[in-house]
Amino acid sequence: MKYVKGLRCRECGREYPVEPIYVCEFCFGPLEAVYDYAKIKKALSRKTIEKRPKTLWRYKELLPIDGEPQVGLNSGFTPLVEAKNLAKYLGVKELYIKDDTVAHPTLSFKDRVVAVALTKAKEFGFDTVACASTGNLAHAVSAHGAKAGFKRFIFIPATLEQSKIVASIVYEPNLVAVDGNYDDVNRLCSEIANKYKWAFVNINIRPFYAEGSKTIGFEIVEQLGWKAPDSIVVPCASGSLLTKVWKALKEFKELGILKNLETKIYGAQATGCSPISTAFKQGTDVIRPVKPNTIAKSLAIGNPADGYYALQAVKESGGAMEDVSDEEIIDAIKLLAKTEGIFTETAGGVTVACYIKLLKEGKIDKKDTTVLCITGNGLKTSEVLNGRTAEVYQIKPNLASFEEALKRINERGR
Ligand SMILES: *Cc1c(COP(=O)(O)O)cnc(C)c1O
Ligand SMILES: [Zn+2]
Repeated sequence: MKYVKGLRCRECGREYPVEPIYVCEFCFGPLEAVYDYAKIKKALSRKTIEKRPKTLWRYKELLPIDGEPQVGLNSGFTPLVEAKNLAKYLGVKELYIKDDTVAHPTLSFKDRVVAVALTKAKEFGFDTVACASTGNLAHAVSAHGAKAGFKRFIFIPATLEQSKIVASIVYEPNLVAVDGNYDDVNRLCSEIANKYKWAFVNINIRPFYAEGSKTIGFEIVEQLGWKAPDSIVVPCASGSLLTKVWKALKEFKELGILKNLETKIYGAQATGCSPISTAFKQGTDVIRPVKPNTIAKSLAIGNPADGYYALQAVKESGGAMEDVSDEEIIDAIKLLAKTEGIFTETAGGVTVACYIKLLKEGKIDKKDTTVLCITGNGLKTSEVLNGRTAEVYQIKPNLASFEEALKRINERGR
C-alpha cells in the first residue's frame, strides 16, 4: 500500500515523483513527502496502532515507504518517563522526559531517521549508504547499514569526540574524518553526492529521512494517553527534528486522532551555536550562519538547513527559542542524572537547561504539562564531564580508611 503521493517543494509547491531527490529544480526549495491523508484515515486508527509491536513502525502509514519496513525493526517507542523528582525540584506540576537515550540500537534519536532512510534506500535499490555527521548519525548509519548489508561511507569532522569515533568505527564502515567543521563536511558531501550514486541519508534521501523524526511526536501523544502536552522542548541542530515534531502533531489532528491541538513548541540551542535562537530573539526570519563553538557537538550546525522552518513552527505554535552556555549544559546534565537517573549527552543538557531558563522567564508556565526531548545517551560524550563531577572517595582496603571517608561523606550530608 502506498500512502505517499509524491514530493512537493516547500517554497513554490511544485510537485515531483518519489525519487532520491531533495531540492526543487526551479527555486532550490527543499522537497517534502506529501501523503494521502484520506487513505491513511481509513487504514490507521488508535486501535490499529495499539495492536502493533512497540517500535516506530507502528505508525508506518505516516512514514514515506511503499512496502514493508526493512531496517531498524527495533527502533523507537522509547520510554516517556514522568520526571517527578525534577518537577519537584523545579516547582512544576507535570513534567515528562521523552527518553531517547535508551531502547535504541545506537542510543540516540538518530536510530529513528536512519530506520526510515535506509528502508527507503533499499526500496530505491541503492547498495551504498552515506552521511555527513556530527556523531550520532554516523553511529546509526554505521550500525543499521551493517545489519542491512549496505556499503557505508561516513564523513565526520576530524575534531569529533574520541568516544564518538569509536562508536562508529566499531561497525567497520568507511569512516572519513574531514579537516573542517560540520558545515565543511556537509558541503563536501553535497559535491560527492552529485558525483556518486549513493544514498546520502541527510542529502538526497533527506525528504524521507527527516520524516522519521515525526515518530517522537506520535509516541509522545500515544504515551500520554492520546493527548498532546501543553509544551514540548526540542533541541535543534539543523532544525529538522523540531519541524517534524510539530508536523506529527498536526497530522494526528488532521486524522482525528487528536481532538484539539494547543501545544507550544520550544527550540533549544547552545549559545555557542544558536543561529535559530538568535533569529527568534531578533525578530527576523533570516537565519545568519555562525561558526560553532560549544561542547554540544551533536547540535553544532552553524548553517541549519531547516532553521527557517523550525523558526516558523515555533512561532506558529506560540512557543519560543532559547539558548544556554556550556556551563549551564554541564549543570543540567548533572541535574537530570541526580534527580531522574537519566544520563544524557550534551544535547539533552541543552534541552534541560533551556527549559529551566524558559521557566524562569515565564515563557513556559509552571502549571503546564511539559515534555523534554532527551535525544542522546551520556556515555557518548562523557569526556565533557572530566574534572567536573562530584568527588570520588579514594581509600585503602581497610575499615578504618573507609570510616575516615564516611566521616567526610556525612559532613557533606550526601
Ligand atoms: C541530530 C540530533 C538532534 C537534532 O537534529 P536536527 O538536525 O535538528 O534534526 C538532536 N539531538 C541529538 C542528540 C542529535 O544527534
Ligand atoms: Zn520550488
